[in-house]
Amino acid sequence: MSENLNPFNIAQEQLDIAAEIMNLDEPAHAILREPMQTLSMNLPVKMRDGSTEVFEGFRVHYNTARGPAKGGIRFHPKEDINTVKALAAWMTWKCSLANIPFGGGKGGVICDTKKMNEYELENLSRAYIRGLHGFVGPKVDVMAPDVYTNPQIMAWMMDEYSKIAGHDEFGVITGKPVEVWGSEGRFDSTALGGMYILREAAKLQKIDLKTAKIAIQGFGNAGGFAFELAKKLGAKVVAISDSSGGVYSDSGLDYNKLLDAKKQSGELSGVKGVTKISNEELLELDVDVLIPAALENQITEGNADRIKAKMVLELANGPVTPGADRILFERKIPDYPDFLVNSGGVIVSYFEWVQNTQNWYWTEDDVYKKLEGIMVRSFKDVVDMKKRYADAKKSISYRTSAYIIAVDRVAKAMKLRGWY
Ligand code: NAD
Repeated sequence: MSENLNPFNIAQEQLDIAAEIMNLDEPAHAILREPMQTLSMNLPVKMRDGSTEVFEGFRVHYNTARGPAKGGIRFHPKEDINTVKALAAWMTWKCSLANIPFGGGKGGVICDTKKMNEYELENLSRAYIRGLHGFVGPKVDVMAPDVYTNPQIMAWMMDEYSKIAGHDEFGVITGKPVEVWGSEGRFDSTALGGMYILREAAKLQKIDLKTAKIAIQGFGNAGGFAFELAKKLGAKVVAISDSSGGVYSDSGLDYNKLLDAKKQSGELSGVKGVTKISNEELLELDVDVLIPAALENQITEGNADRIKAKMVLELANGPVTPGADRILFERKIPDYPDFLVNSGGVIVSYFEWVQNTQNWYWTEDDVYKKLEGIMVRSFKDVVDMKKRYADAKKSISYRTSAYIIAVDRVAKAMKLRGWY
């Protein structure tokens, strides 16, 4: 039977595994298997040629026991409610594991931004907020950018929400440009957070980053910044890929040359002296650290037994399926889960919301120091929980350990609030 790759089913299966091990109360488990609220909208949008198109949009509040929903908005032609629900669930666990006062949410619109001009994108962004305005807010649901949405779109959305509210509400959305009170340090925060985890995990696994070889799948916001930051830790990035394929060089790749090649030909393989490889080959390289930083479902039952990396660091959301999880675990390849590794983005989003709420703004240095503190604490929490189970003669993965911490905090909040 082929593996079930429905992202929401995967999120539910991951929860079920943790629920069984931690003996989660049955009502809490039932509540946490489904989102609390799902809003589906038809959004009429005026197009440049005078026509009107109707777009389908969603917003999910997965769980708000620990605070307002928090999560990004995707504009994607293949957006679907199962992906949005899965991402909203993972946001709940991410905020809980980082111990920041938010629940989890996510949104999306089915649209092809590559076929839309700026006028149409602005109209769609404002229509999304008009459809949602009673469902979001700085104390209800705080949105953010995600795939194919950006700081400009966040600025339009904040403006539309503020117009309806009758006053400025900068804290309704994060990832804004700094000119309209976005936070310093937000841009590279996901990769930077991931690199703090890389540093801590390498120490634990006794991998010397000064001699380590790293392969990264994805050369976008997450993967591109991770490349530069890994080099600052002394590591050598020997392989990287994007949707056009990958490149390998045993002596290490040069970031600026790759950027130039991509600008000139649209492909990374334009750089002299590198070997062209496929995305599949990149995942199976004999390296110290493999960083999937592109798409979901990349390491599956089909290739997990061919992974040779000494450890996997999930910078993308959902790159490893539950079947692959089991195989990596049996093969004793440590896999640090997405909602630990890529939580830097939402942590700095939280800082942005705090700054908007207090109207008091921090330097980039303040942001980075506070981010490091939270990432290192979360890593330690996950390692300690795994050890507690090991001491009780139960061997669990890093993902399950992270789930146990995150789910326990949400369940306790629900219980204390009298939800069950
Ligand atoms: P992005 O759009 O900036 O970059 C995605 C990269 O993946 C691009 O280089 C693209 O060419 C590449 N790619 C697409 N298809 C590919 C394929 N088949 N094989 C290899 N590479 C392929 O997106 P991003 O913001 O870097 O996000 C990447 C992942 O990280 C996603 O899973 C996202 O949900 C997750 N993430 C990102 C952030 C953030 O702040 N950017 C935060 C948390 C999680």
